[in-house]
Amino acid sequence: MTDFALKRQQILSKIEAACKKNARKFEEVQLLAVSKTHTADVLRQMHTAGQHSFGENYLQEALAKQEQLQDLSIEWHFIGHVQRNKTKPLAAHFDWIHGVDRLIIAERLSSQRPDDLSPLNLCIQVNIDGQDSKDGCAPEDVSELVQQISQLPNICLRGLMVIPKPDNTAAFTAAKTLFDQVKVQHAHPEHWNTLSMGMSSDLEEAIAAGSTLVRIGTALFGARDYS
Ligand SMILES: *Cc1c(COP(=O)(O)O)cnc(C)c1O
Repeated sequence: MTDFALKRQQILSKIEAACKKNARKFEEVQLLAVSKTHTADVLRQMHTAGQHSFGENYLQEALAKQEQLQDLSIEWHFIGHVQRNKTKPLAAHFDWIHGVDRLIIAERLSSQRPDDLSPLNLCIQVNIDGQDSKDGCAPEDVSELVQQISQLPNICLRGLMVIPKPDNTAAFTAAKTLFDQVKVQHAHPEHWNTLSMGMSSDLEEAIAAGSTLVRIGTALFGARDYS
């Protein structure tokens, strides 16, 4: 087994153990490999190890890697904050966008999604524990955003994404409650099945609370070097 395959297997085993412990099905939790700062060659090796979905935070960096990995079948997720002036390339080059917190962003992504591509999968980012950071909508705004975004023709609204403060596991439970409320209030938006939460240091707690997609960088690829 390569180091890449070994690391991936270790994370999958952790996910499986967390599922078992919480009486959940392993198939309900997807592993997203967060590959920001890592080279296209590293992604290629992780792909060879069996990983097909990758999450990137920086548009230019992601586009360069996509170019180099065109021969592979990869599901690309954008997990960074979405700026209004970046929606066009995002709509054209990604399969999923996790960080949408305003209607105008979703509207632009919908109108800029190329006709030959299937609807863009989208998660609403929620500032679940009231952090000062301006990323994420307020929990009380979720219902109205769901109502509005689910009308957009080229968007497939999939669920919620949260990044709570470290060690705030109560926030995971709050996110799960909000996620379930939408199902009830909006009579199950058809594809509403994704709760994107949990990273390297808290994936077990996130799975215990109901995460369906964990975003794992460091535990898979090692520490990031930003120099
Ligand atoms: C970088 C990043 C991750 C991965 O974090 P690790 O702690 O390295 O697993 C997950 N989600 C988002 C939104 C990120 O920016």
